[in-house]
Amino acid sequence: MSRILVVEDELAIAELIAINLRHAGHEVAIAVDAEQAINEVDAVLPDLVVLDWMLPGQSGLTLARRWRADPRTQSLPVIMLTARGEESDKIAGLDAGADDYLTKPFSTHELMARIRAVLRRKAPEALEEAVSAGHLRVDPATRRVSAGAQDLRLGPTEFKLLHFLVTHPERVHSRKQLLDRVWGDHVFIEERTVDVHVKRLRDALAPAGCASMIETVRGVGYRLVRPSNSLVTP
Ligand code: CA
Repeated sequence: MSRILVVEDELAIAELIAINLRHAGHEVAIAVDAEQAINEVDAVLPDLVVLDWMLPGQSGLTLARRWRADPRTQSLPVIMLTARGEESDKIAGLDAGADDYLTKPFSTHELMARIRAVLRRKAPEALEEAVSAGHLRVDPATRRVSAGAQDLRLGPTEFKLLHFLVTHPERVHSRKQLLDRVWGDHVFIEERTVDVHVKRLRDALAPAGCASMIETVRGVGYRLVRPSNSLVTP
């Protein structure tokens, strides 16, 4: 369900991390230097980056700062790896915008736990956990959407779109952001594609009376609004 980019020039370590991540159901890309990492992120925004500090050429620290300075990548979850365990390094890493920090050698079990924690905090749509808004329930593990006892039929793209909106409710998302986070492509897909799928999503939610939860914010994009408590019947 989630895309993770591993930036590490020591291939044995990169492969070990990748194997564990794939085993946990993640989609993994490996970059061996900063340039490759930049190209990967420019093409497809990952859900999380595991970033080694010591890279040939530009360091992981510089890379983290660069991503934090760009509006498209400023909230990209980053877990930093380093061979040095000094407190000053940890502070520098977190200052550069890393969400967490792990010292080598680390156990892959520990890394997986940290990844899960960071995703839960920053990219909950990347986890296979059921979420709800109002009486809508979205379960990525079974790909089911229900409203009370009623099952709703959604296409795969509408499912991903709804899942993303439900995990990031009340916030306005531009079409560009939705293409990045739901489609994984912000360059080659036309923005009106989003409108087409939003319409299909509303049509799919209509039988449960939930179509109006997907709001158009004129000139900006879309947001999911949770029905106010006064409208929910017990
Ligand atoms: Ca390295």
